[in-house]
Amino acid sequence: MKCQGAVLRGVGQDWEVREITLDPPKDGEVLVKMAVAGVCHSDDHFTTGDMVPTPDFAAVMEAAGVPPVEYFPLLGGHEGAGIVEEVGPGVRSVQPGDRVAFSFIAACGSCRWCASGMTYLCDNGAMMLAKEMTTDGTRRRHLGDEDLTAMTQLGTFAEYAVLAEESVIKIDESIPFEAASLVSCGVTTGWGSETVGVGTQPGDTVVIVGTGGVGINAVQGARAAGANSVIAVDPVEFKRDTAKFFGATDTSPSIEEAIPLVQELTEGVMADRVVLTPGVLDAELLAPALMLTRKGGTCLMTAVPKFEVNMVPLLLVDMLQSCKQLKGLIYGGMNPRASMPMLLSMYRNGHLKLDELVTRRYRLDQINDAIRDMRGGRNIRGIIEFD
Ligand SMILES: [Zn+2]
Ligand SMILES: [Zn+2]
Repeated sequence: MKCQGAVLRGVGQDWEVREITLDPPKDGEVLVKMAVAGVCHSDDHFTTGDMVPTPDFAAVMEAAGVPPVEYFPLLGGHEGAGIVEEVGPGVRSVQPGDRVAFSFIAACGSCRWCASGMTYLCDNGAMMLAKEMTTDGTRRRHLGDEDLTAMTQLGTFAEYAVLAEESVIKIDESIPFEAASLVSCGVTTGWGSETVGVGTQPGDTVVIVGTGGVGINAVQGARAAGANSVIAVDPVEFKRDTAKFFGATDTSPSIEEAIPLVQELTEGVMADRVVLTPGVLDAELLAPALMLTRKGGTCLMTAVPKFEVNMVPLLLVDMLQSCKQLKGLIYGGMNPRASMPMLLSMYRNGHLKLDELVTRRYRLDQINDAIRDMRGGRNIRGIIEFD
């Protein structure tokens, strides 16, 4: 079938809305008519080139035996929700007419990691940016004579998506598409970073650096976990104000200015947990983030860093003698198939704010405006609506 999709041809270019071709779903695959797609910083990381490996990083990956990735042309979008239009043979978990949200990892459910409750580490994650389907290793998405890479095996910036069954999660009919789309990436990642990733406890002091689409949900998660002080750090005043609305007790425009604030709030003990959720994880952020972390405390990296060999200034003596943990985590350590229905149930019962996360709505042909507004710090979440 043919439909419209937003395609990126290379680093530094604008997104182009083009006619793309999707092959019918094969064994274990579904065709979804998109209702809503969320615009996340990770999509923009291909425009800026942050997620495209530098030569030194590529050399390290090659030495480790990781096959090189063909990033372009890229069909964008990894947050979204829609309605199942058609299912291929063998599909059991959904049928035509079902509402679905998406997982940005097509977790298989049977590998060692999935079987251990860590679906975010599923071996299928290695194919997140492959042109081939995780199901049978062949290709379904095309732009003229070229094959498309679909962002995280999804490609939600299109009117339709052909997906592995593992990428879709059935949701209740009463859940609005916007809410379902939001839990696809940003909400689950942010919420999980606090509640699972750093294991926030009642009474804790936590710092969240960067309160955009992910960090704002770390604020919600921290409050739900019982944190006493939630300090939101963001250079944009609108985002600091929004963080207060979502439950932050204190705010700071920079990580440097947060250090004396946290010193004062904790009588010098510093924060029990620090979660880093900026648009891009800069290596320079780690030294002050660990200064914000108390002895025995945990600092969590949730944001995407540049794909380069990073030189990180760390006080190793402090790491050792103060028994600090520095941890990396994707999807907030949550298992989408379990956590998305749980979060949507919390939303329905009024314990999780989702509608309030949407700042602006766009049509697909306004994709570049949506990206510009996100870069400009004008959106908590921008949403693309389809007919
Ligand atoms: Zn995302
Ligand atoms: Zn797996």
